[in-house]
Parts: sequence; structure tokens; C-alpha cells
Amino acid sequence: MIPVTKPFLPPNDEYLKIIDGIWKRQWLTNMGPLASELEMSLKEYLKVNHLLFVTNGTIALQMAIKSLNITGEIITTPFSFVATTSTIVWEGCTPVFVDIDEKTLNIDATKIEAAITENTQAILATHVYGNPCDVEAIEKIATKYNLKVIYDGAHAFGVRVNNKSIFEYGDISTCSLHATKLYHSVEGGLIITKDPDLLKKNAYIRNFGFNGPESFAELGINGKNSEFHAAMGLVNLKYIDDIYKRRKVITERYNEKLLNFRAYRPKWHSDANINYAYYPLVFENEKLLLEVKNLLEGHEIFTRRYFYPSLANTLPYLEPKKIEITDKVSPTVLCLPLYYDLTLEEVDLICRLMLRAQNN
Ligand SMILES: *Cc1c(COP(=O)(O)O)cnc(C)c1O
Repeated sequence: MIPVTKPFLPPNDEYLKIIDGIWKRQWLTNMGPLASELEMSLKEYLKVNHLLFVTNGTIALQMAIKSLNITGEIITTPFSFVATTSTIVWEGCTPVFVDIDEKTLNIDATKIEAAITENTQAILATHVYGNPCDVEAIEKIATKYNLKVIYDGAHAFGVRVNNKSIFEYGDISTCSLHATKLYHSVEGGLIITKDPDLLKKNAYIRNFGFNGPESFAELGINGKNSEFHAAMGLVNLKYIDDIYKRRKVITERYNEKLLNFRAYRPKWHSDANINYAYYPLVFENEKLLLEVKNLLEGHEIFTRRYFYPSLANTLPYLEPKKIEITDKVSPTVLCLPLYYDLTLEEVDLICRLMLRAQNN
């Protein structure tokens, strides 16, 4: 069986060694030493100044919205994971969908201005598959209309644009460290901002709003993460370069073998490195996609329609809306298996089957 993804696991003795100290300290959660060490290591690795390790990528988005005092309309993309939209609704705000660019599959920055109303307060865009949005164009619009910008960088760990971490763009960027992501701490998330005051506010929010044992600075929530999760993050960080390298080899093998397959790859930002988080393909049509998906499933090989369907017309808590390019592209996108342990023989098998489906 070949799943679409498989979590990376480090050698278990390395993990056990690092969690051993937890028994001595008996400090299990609440910003313990391993969580602090992970924050330090990630700041260094990502080259960012301010970062918080939180429970997961979803709570990171909620905290971002809350800490920026956003209560009105948020312009966002219909082509993302459900958490991008659900957190907007959860925070009592209104998502306003703007279509994606057919080549990059990210929000189309040229269509944002037309969606701005007097109630618009922010833009929440996803770096889809880790591919940076047009951050410069978005920044210009945000400045012109005095809007906050949040980036859902759940896929974008390790990506740099113009030699700067992608997480440094926007008022706040978030990341997910969920087990299925490129780099993970089993469950986990990050909040990154350039603004030290905003970071401090989020640190209070993360801990119920406490700013002392008997006093509160903010309306807070429990966004903390544990020492056991931090330990996994610390061990996995040692392997991150191996992880990219392995995924690059797999990606290039797919590219080579699928040269004549009738599909295109999303166009990557020209000034950014690739982090090989996913292997998405935009098929010529949905019929071919379904034939490939079914044929692969017959061989116990699992792909994922990621993201399908569009968030603008599937959520039971929102009025369904047609969004031209998203509705056209989303049914034709398929992510192929990509994970550390995937072998090149398995990649070759997948590609052979795909070409067979195409030529039938
Ligand atoms: C995974 C993901 C999230 C949610 O992150 P969790 O850590 O699972 O809560 C949010 N947005 C996108 C785009 C994701 O892929």
C-alpha cells in the first residue's frame, strides 16, 4: 500500500533520549524548557526574530485574527484547507472569497481590490503547497486600504523569498506542524510576526490572557503546546535538510517520468526556493483525473484531491458561491504520494500506471 503521505519519524532512541529529562524535571507543558528550546532553534533555523510555538495551525490562525482585532470581512481564498475559512467564521468574521490565479493556484492579487468594501479589515491568504503568494502586490493593496494581512503558511516551512523567510511577510504568518506536514511536532503550530508587541499579545492570548499569577492582560485561550511535542519538533529539526533532499529527489523523478503526462504543475514564485511539501498536478480534465485516481486505487496507491471541493460552495455554514477559476481548476487537481520513505521504484510504478490510464 502506498499512502498519499506518511509522517516522518526520527530514530526512536533519539526521541526517547530527549524526553528522558521530562521525568527528571516533571515539567510537562506550559512553556517548558523543551518548548523554549524549540522556539529558539526555529527562530535560528528560519531566521525570524519573533515566533511562538502553539497547539496547532488552526489555533494559530484563530489567535492571529483575534490579536489583530479583526471583526469584519476578511478577503480570503476558496482554494485552501478548510481551516483557513473555518477560523474566520469561528472568530465571528465574514469570509469574502477572491478567485485564484490559474497558474499559481494562489489568491489572484489583481482581483482583491474589486472585493474590498467598507467592512473589509484584512486579507487572509494561503501559500498553497508552500508556493508564496504575490506578497508584494498584497502588501501594496493592504497599505493602500489600511488592511491587516495574515498568511496561512501551513505548507510553507523553510520557504524564503528574496532571501527572507516567507513568514516575515504580512502582519502575522502562521504555520502548521501537524504530523502530515513536511516538518512536524506531531501536533503543533507557529505564529510569526515582525512586531514584538504583537508577539507579546499573542503570548498572553496563548496562556489564557495571564500576565501574572493573578492578573490578565488579554482575552485569552489555551494555545500552549507540550514538552513531548516540542521534543519531536527538536529531533525532527535535525533531519529537515535530509527531508528536503529526499523529497527533491522524488519530485524530480516524478517530473522526469511524467514529462508526457497531460497535466501541468503550479507555477512556482520566481524568487523563492521550493520546499517540496506536495506533488500537485493540474490535470487536463476531471475525467482523466478520476481514471488515474481509480486505477491507482486498484493498485492500493492513494492520492488526494487537495483542495477539492472549493471552500466557497461546500461549507454548510456558508451560502454557496460560484468562483470561476477555482470551480474550474479544483476538480482537476490531484496530489500524488510524497513522503520521506517513498522509493523511486514506487514513483516509477505510479508514473507507469498514470501513463497507462492516459493512453487507454
Ligand atoms: C494543515 C493546514 C491547516 C491546519 O493546521 P493544523 O495544525 O492541522 O491545525 C491550516 N491551513 C492549511 C492550508 C493546512 O494545510
